[in-house]
Amino acid sequence: MPLNRKDELLEYDKLNFYYMSLPVLLLGNYAVALFLSVIMIGKVDIYSIGIWILVGTIMFLYGIYHYLSFNKLTEEEKSQQSEKWLDKYYTDTLLNGVIWGSSAILIFPENNSTSQLLLIFFLYAVGFLAMGVFASKKDMLITYVSAMYLPLILRLLFWEGDKYQNIAYILIAITLVMMLVAEYYGNIINNGLASRRDFVNIKESHEKLKDRFLSLFERAPVSIYYYNRDMNIEDANENFLHINGFRSKNELANISLANIRNNKVIQVHNAVFDGKTETYKGPFKLVADKDLYVKLSTVPLINNSGEVSGGVGIINDITNEINAQEKMIKNSYYDLLTNIPNRTLLMDKLINTINSKVDKSPYGALIYMDIDNFKKINETYGHDMGDNLLRQAVSRIEDVIKKDDIFARVGGDKFAILISSIRDTQKDTKGYINNYILRLKDRFSEPIKISGDDNLLSFSIGVMLFNDNTQSAFDILKKSETAMYAAKNSARGTITYYEDGMDDYEKEKFSIANDIHKALLNDEFYMVYQPQIDIKTNKVISAESLIRWNHPTKGSISPALFIPIAEESGSIIEVEIWTYERIFSEIKALYDNNGKFMLERVAVNVSTVHFMQPNFVETFTMLVSKHNIDPKNIELEITESGIMRNIDEAIEKIKALKDLGFTFAIDDFGTGYSSLAYLKKLPVDVIKIDKEFIDNLHSHPEDAAIVSSVIFIGNKFGLKVLSEGVENKDTLDDLDIMGCDLYQGYYGYKPMHIEKLASIVKEQT
Ligand code: C2E
Ligand code: CA
Ligand code: CA
Repeated sequence: MPLNRKDELLEYDKLNFYYMSLPVLLLGNYAVALFLSVIMIGKVDIYSIGIWILVGTIMFLYGIYHYLSFNKLTEEEKSQQSEKWLDKYYTDTLLNGVIWGSSAILIFPENNSTSQLLLIFFLYAVGFLAMGVFASKKDMLITYVSAMYLPLILRLLFWEGDKYQNIAYILIAITLVMMLVAEYYGNIINNGLASRRDFVNIKESHEKLKDRFLSLFERAPVSIYYYNRDMNIEDANENFLHINGFRSKNELANISLANIRNNKVIQVHNAVFDGKTETYKGPFKLVADKDLYVKLSTVPLINNSGEVSGGVGIINDITNEINAQEKMIKNSYYDLLTNIPNRTLLMDKLINTINSKVDKSPYGALIYMDIDNFKKINETYGHDMGDNLLRQAVSRIEDVIKKDDIFARVGGDKFAILISSIRDTQKDTKGYINNYILRLKDRFSEPIKISGDDNLLSFSIGVMLFNDNTQSAFDILKKSETAMYAAKNSARGTITYYEDGMDDYEKEKFSIANDIHKALLNDEFYMVYQPQIDIKTNKVISAESLIRWNHPTKGSISPALFIPIAEESGSIIEVEIWTYERIFSEIKALYDNNGKFMLERVAVNVSTVHFMQPNFVETFTMLVSKHNIDPKNIELEITESGIMRNIDEAIEKIKALKDLGFTFAIDDFGTGYSSLAYLKKLPVDVIKIDKEFIDNLHSHPEDAAIVSSVIFIGNKFGLKVLSEGVENKDTLDDLDIMGCDLYQGYYGYKPMHIEKLASIVKEQT
């Protein structure tokens, strides 16, 4: 039967016990044996004594050797080899018994009854000595006792005669009594060993429990700490030390929970003294620079006498979660770049404000501001600098914003200020706002430095006033924006209050942008051509293609209106590709019977939005070759304002197209940033002076001065100069005198269909 773990351990204990008592046993036995031998000298044959004591000595040394070998073993080896060592021990014991038993044969004094009794006495003395040890193992005891006393008892019974038989019976009785005592004694030893084992087991599991608890306490992923009635922390685990920034437990000595500046936290800790368990969730600050957010529970600590001796606090540090949550909330309500409220938060506040305006109570205002020319700053200095400028602007505006007003970023360079209540009359309210904005502008009288450059910032500002709850927050924002655009379109930097009808243009724009797509599908566009005339010869040498839109409900819509809208909404690319396809197929009518093109060229308008597309050159040349048009018959009109933004890339594209044979004209010259200095850089062929300067050429000397200098310089650079919008003979004569090469205008021809143009050029030849 396999032993269970407990019995195994008990066996092991016994083995240890045997070997532990082995030296005493051996020495005792050996000493008694020596003593006995000495007594027997002269009474027994000396050789017999010699042999007996020699064998006894060998056995003694053999036993000592076993004892020493056993002691050298490790605990593990002892328990693994316990059976083997138990066998050795049995063998030694048995041999020991045999040796003592042999004394009844070898050194039994024949005729000396005193010595005989002495021997018997010694044998039993040794037996009793051993019994204490063997008692715990009954089979061993029987083996031992048999080996020891059987020879003697047998000798007395059958060899020495009647008188000895009685002694033999007595010895049998003594032996039996001895065995009974041993049995009883053995039980005591066994129980003792067993309870010792139980005790060891209990102690072990107790230690284990303690270890487990300690490691649970120390390494728990939550903070656990004990505090006493004085609210001092007595012990705390690693997590607690960590979250509060303590380096060791020693630092806890001066820490009192009573010093926490949070009544709720103190209350939760105090609750345990009323025997209560409490929880808390919120800020927790035990140490100056550790602002934590925690879930805290406290539990009373009860001592042996049933009194509350202190409390246990358990803290779950949720600072990171709360921070993340707060950040998320902040991110959705605050602008990341400038840290001020964003559009969402502004709209929330605006809705609240509107809802409070039930009885035409004081006016509220939404001020909408847009930085003038911010785009240009961004393009010149790069986005990082643009961001930098926005932050500087925001901090200046914040200086002026009143505490209850909401200052928000509603878009790239667009900001809004919500003022919830101002004055009861509109006039007073406007006075207040004007003052407010004056102070704002004042903060921008000093330039802002970007990359070492001074930049004076100006704003276009629109204001929407409201004093009831009849309009939605969206309407109010929209109207303030409309007012801002109206301000931008008038003189820069003025304040414009929203008025009804202001947003009609915006609405119109929106519907036109939508209609452009339909117009392409429904073929509502068509092309006309306006001849360009050589002033010297009065011959038509070229023509500019111009788009027309015949809108199904609105009638004819000017390209001056819808082209900028198409540019803004991106549909210009589609529109222009349509125009090129149409132009290149229509101008087939301009070839004569010999297949010769009857004009020098046809000019096409190219929006810079389109021109700056990365694949413009490829698209354009593909369309030209698709229609078998010679590039030298096509002139591209581009406006200078568009290409100045990215002049190097523009020059590269112009050069690439010129290499293919195309020519270039600068349209609207003089209206944009135009500087004659750029003319040198731009590899163009024609300058078109804008109608703006031509209109008053005859009556305004300044315009005449500009036009004549442009013509002069253009000629110097070897460029042809074309004047647009010539409507009368006086103007044409002036231009002729100034040396202008070409003109285009109603005085010559209005834009016309291709058939008409074809017939005019045919007549010319
Ligand atoms: P633009 O390129 O400067 O075109 C010249 C404009 O002046 C044309 O107006 C033309 O009809 C007009 N014009 C010519 N001579 C006279 C004159 O003696 N008196 C007056 N009052 N006007 C004259 P339009 O056709 O309305 O075009 C306006 C603008 O729309 C054009 O200015 C051009 O920027 C754009 N545009 C027109 N057609 C196209 C096109 O096919 N593609 C692109 N991208 N833009 C176009
Ligand atoms: Ca043009
Ligand atoms: Ca023009």
